Amino acid sequence: MAFDMTLTLDLTHPATRPPVASVDKPPLIGLDRAGLKEALGSIGIETRQQNMRAGQLWHWLYVRGISDFDAMVNVSKDLRAELKRHFSIARPDIVEEQISQDGTRKWLFRFPPRGAGRPVEVETVYIPEEGRGTLCVSSQVGCTLTCSFCHTGTQKLVRNLTAEEILAQIMTARDRLGDFPGADTPVGAIVPSEGRKVSNIVMMGMGEPLYNFDNVKQALLIATDGDGLSLSKRRVTLSTSGVVPEIHRTGAEMNVMLAISLHAVTDELRDVLVPINKKYPLKDLLDACRAYPGLSNARRITFEYVMLKGVNDSPADARQLVRLLKGIPAKINLIPFNKWPGAGYECSSWETIETFADIVNHAGYASPIRTPRGRDILAACGQLKSASERMRKTDRDALEAQRLDEMALQAMMIAGHGEA
Ligand code: SAH
Ligand code: SF4
Repeated sequence: MAFDMTLTLDLTHPATRPPVASVDKPPLIGLDRAGLKEALGSIGIETRQQNMRAGQLWHWLYVRGISDFDAMVNVSKDLRAELKRHFSIARPDIVEEQISQDGTRKWLFRFPPRGAGRPVEVETVYIPEEGRGTLCVSSQVGCTLTCSFCHTGTQKLVRNLTAEEILAQIMTARDRLGDFPGADTPVGAIVPSEGRKVSNIVMMGMGEPLYNFDNVKQALLIATDGDGLSLSKRRVTLSTSGVVPEIHRTGAEMNVMLAISLHAVTDELRDVLVPINKKYPLKDLLDACRAYPGLSNARRITFEYVMLKGVNDSPADARQLVRLLKGIPAKINLIPFNKWPGAGYECSSWETIETFADIVNHAGYASPIRTPRGRDILAACGQLKSASERMRKTDRDALEAQRLDEMALQAMMIAGHGEA
C-alpha cells in the first residue's frame, strides 16, 4: 500500500517538536513595519529608536526566519528579554507532517487560541517540481461557501486566519524544508531569493481568501516585500470562487496573480457547483476579470476547471469555455476531480480530459492538466484535517489506518498552479 512508503514523522517526540507558540502573548509575526514600531512603542521603546529596532526585528523575523529571540544577536540582551516577556515569535505546533514518495509534503499545523476561542488546525501542502516549489496555503478554517464538489465546503467556517497564521504557514514550511539562511550567515548579509525551495505560493488551501481580504493582504504584502521573505508577486496566486466586489482590489492592492474557480460555463450549472454564482453570475465575474489591474499576455488570469464526469466535461462545454474567455488573457487549468468519501461526483476519464484539453489548446490556450500529486498522503486540501480528526478519535488504531489507506489511494492533488 502506498502508505508503507510514506514517511510520517513522529512529532510527539520532544526532540522533533519546535517551540510552541504561547497562548497569552501577542505574536510579532504578521506585523508590518508600522505594526512592529507600534509593538515596540507599547513596551516603552522611544520613538526615535523605533525605526531602527523595527528594521532589526523585520530582518530577523522575515529574512532570517528565526523563532527564538536569543538568536537576534545585534539586539541588546535587555531588549531581547523585554521582547520575550511581552511577545511571541514561536511557530505553530506541528500536529502532523507527511512526506510523499514524490516529495510532496503536507502539514497539519495547530495554532493556539488568541484571546477567547479554541486552538485551530490548518493544513498546508508543499509540491516540489522541476525548478520550483509551490506552497498551497490556507486562508480560513473551513469555508462559508458550499461548492458541491469541494470537501472543505462540507466543513463549517470556524474562523478567518489571522495574518500571522497565514504567514506562519509559509515560514514553518520553510523551516521544515531548510529554506531559511543558516544561523552562521553573518548579520546583514544579503540573502538571495533565487534557488529557494518555496518559490511559489498559491492561496488554494482551505477557505475563500477574498472573504478574509485584510489578513490575506497583510500576509501577502509581507511575503512579497523585497526586503523580507521576498517572494515574487508573479509567483503568488490567489484563487477565488468569484467574490466579484473584491477582485479589482486584489489586483490594485496586492498586485498578485489571479485564479478563478470557474468549473462551469453556464449560470445554471455554476449555480449548483459554485453557489456564489447566484450572487455574482458569470457575466459579472468575467467583466471583473477583464478589468483586473495589470492584466496582459505576460500576466494572465488562470481559470480553474475541475473535471467532473458527465457534468461539465463535454466537447460542447470546452467550446463554450473558449467562447466565454474570448478577449481575456487566460490560462486554463484542468483539474482532475479529487474524489472524497461521500462526494456525489466522479472524475472524468483521462480520455475525456484529453479531448477537452485538445479543444482548448486548439483555441490557443495553454491548458496543462494537473497531475495527481501526493496520492499516498491525501495531499488534497481539506482532507488531512478530517483524516487526522478521525484518527485521533479512535486513538490511531489499526482499523483507522486501514481506512486512511483506502482514502489515500483515491487522493489526488491540485498541484503547482501559479506562474508558468
Ligand atoms: N476558495 C478558493 C480557494 C481554495 S479551493 C476557491 O474556491 O478558488 C482551490 C481550488 O481547488 C479551487 O479551484 C477549487 O474549486 C478546487 N477544488 C476544491 N475541491 C476540489 C476537489 N475535490 N477536486 C479538485 N479540485 C478541487
Ligand atoms: Fe470554499 Fe473554495 Fe471549497 Fe468553494 S471550492 S467551498 S470557495 S474552499
